[in-house]
This record gives sequence, structure tokens and C-alpha cells, in this order.
Amino acid sequence: MKNIAVVGAGTMGNGIAHVFAMKGFKVSLIDISQSALEKALATIEKNLDRMMAKEKISESDKADTLANITTFTEMKKGVATADLVVEAATENKAIKLKIFEQMANWAPDSAILATNTSSISITEIAAVTPNPQQVIGMHFMNPVPVMKLVEIIRGYSTSDEVTQSVMELAVILGKSPVEVNDYPGFVANRILMPMINEAIYTLHEGVAGVAEIDTVMKLGMAHPMGPLQLADFIGLDVCLAILRVLYDGFGNPKYAPCPLLVNMVTAGKLGRKSKEGFYNYEKGGKELVVASNFV
Ligand code: NAD
Repeated sequence: MKNIAVVGAGTMGNGIAHVFAMKGFKVSLIDISQSALEKALATIEKNLDRMMAKEKISESDKADTLANITTFTEMKKGVATADLVVEAATENKAIKLKIFEQMANWAPDSAILATNTSSISITEIAAVTPNPQQVIGMHFMNPVPVMKLVEIIRGYSTSDEVTQSVMELAVILGKSPVEVNDYPGFVANRILMPMINEAIYTLHEGVAGVAEIDTVMKLGMAHPMGPLQLADFIGLDVCLAILRVLYDGFGNPKYAPCPLLVNMVTAGKLGRKSKEGFYNYEKGGKELVVASNFV
């Protein structure tokens, strides 16, 4: 594989383009928004500068990486010569199904079509394409250049050959791939989201405050970040959407999102991206939000 197309240039798309380009792949980075593409290139450059400052890469590595990335606002042009397309657009089923229908038309017939979805069924996405055996989940973690794990999700029809190629590719990127099957939440979010939800219930029921809950999990379980801080980092809207996929997918009340989480998302308190969640980020660092908000 030489040519990679990345559809969606947001938080994840720019990181995915970054890691492929740094390993010498030619990357077409595609977004419907020109400003998202500009922001993505600026972010990639800033992250490469940070790596240079840490002496992890040289000035010429940075130049080569940037030279490997071309941006497109038209998907048809961007995927035309792709060996692999990695879709990292907004987590919305209707948007993803439409993108996969188009990708299947415009990418070469031999191309592998991967999605970075956190929770949407790979089998359902694959079903809108004529070659579901070529569709697979390639779930990178945030921030992509730093995090080692890639969850490789086999849809119902994904072929052994496609799975093996994508596993090998992840290793070439310096990642540690783990193969899993396509069930709600896959493995990462099926385990992580109930933990975050339980932390929110623990807060909501007044068992302990935000700082106390996060401290217990950091110092007691050696987690680098407490579950409430992690929820802010992921985005409370994203956490709620994934919990709903688990709840709908399994029909089990243990996945029911905590009403406090639902309230916070409804009130626009989405975590770091909206400057307030369980902590307040207005001043750059994180400060506790008053306890009475969480009852
Ligand atoms: P984001 O909102 O930062 O970026 C999404 C981008 O997709 C935007 O720039 C938007 O303009 C673009 N887009 C929307 N429709 C498009 C279309 N039709 N064609 C091309 N581009 C389009 O989102 P994100 O956080 O980068 O998430 C992207 C995907 O990665 C989602 O499926 C999400 O679930 C998954 N994911 C996110 C994280 C995370 O921590 N943010 C972690 C793992 C996986």
C-alpha cells in the first residue's frame, strides 16, 4: 500500500494523516470544510515541531511528512488512487453511510475501506457497499501520534486477507493492533464507557465529589487520568452517544446513561471542547465546577 486517503480532517483525521505521512505514505486528506483542512495542516505542523523540539525527528523528516500530505475538499478526487481509505468524519450514522456509498463508487475496486468510528456497526456500514469483505474498523485512539493502540474491528463479512493487511499496516505505523469482532462498543468503549457512566452515577448520588472520584481511580487504580477528567477530554456528547449505542445494541439497563450526563449534554456542557464539563477550562488549566451542579 502506498496511497492513503483520510476522510475527515478533525481531531482524529489530522492525527491519522500525520502518522501515515510520517511513515512515507502519500496521504490525501479530505474534508468538506476548507477551514478544517487548514486547521488540520496547522495542527500537524505544530505537532511535528513538538517532536522536533524533543529531538524525535529532524527538520527534513518534518518537511518530508508535510510534503506527503495533499488536501482535497472533493472526495471523488481525493480517493481516486487510494489503496486504503480511512474514514474519520463526524460520528453520525447517516453521514458515514453516505460517505461509504460514495467511497465505494469513487475509490478503486481493490481499495480497503476502513472506518475510525468509535461505536457504529462496521457490518451496517459495510452493507451499503458492494464489497463488504473489504470494509473494516480501524479505531485509532486520541491523540493518534502518541497512543499505541489500534482496535481492528472485523465486520461480519470482512475477509481474512483484509484483516491481515490492516493488522500489518498498523504495525508499520508503529502501533499495536488488537483484533476484535463487531459488537456494540467493540472492546475499548464497551469497557470504558460503563466505567465513566458509573463514575458519573457515583457523583450524581453524592457518594463523592469530582476530585475525590478522580483521585481514587488515579492513585488507587493507577489510571493516568480520572474517569471524569477523561470524559471531559473525550467529550460528554461523545460519551452519551456511545452509551446509547451500547444500551440500544444490548437492550440491557446496565448501560442506561446517567441522567446527570444527559442533563449536562442538553445544557451544552460537553467537557473540554465547550470549556466546561466536570471541570472548567476557561483559564487554560482545569478547575472544579461547583458541587451543587451535579445533583
Ligand atoms: P471532529 O468533529 O473533530 O472531525 C470530524 C470532521 O469530519 C470535521 O472536520 C467535519 O468537517 C468532517 N466531515 C463531516 N462530514 C464530512 C464528509 N461528508 N466528508 C468529509 N468530511 C466530513 O471528529 P473526531 O473527534 O475527529 O471524530 C472522527 C471520528 O473518529 C468519529 O467517528 C469518532 O467517533 C472517532 N473517534 C474519535 C475519538 C476522539 O477522541 N475524538 C477517538 C477515537 C475515534
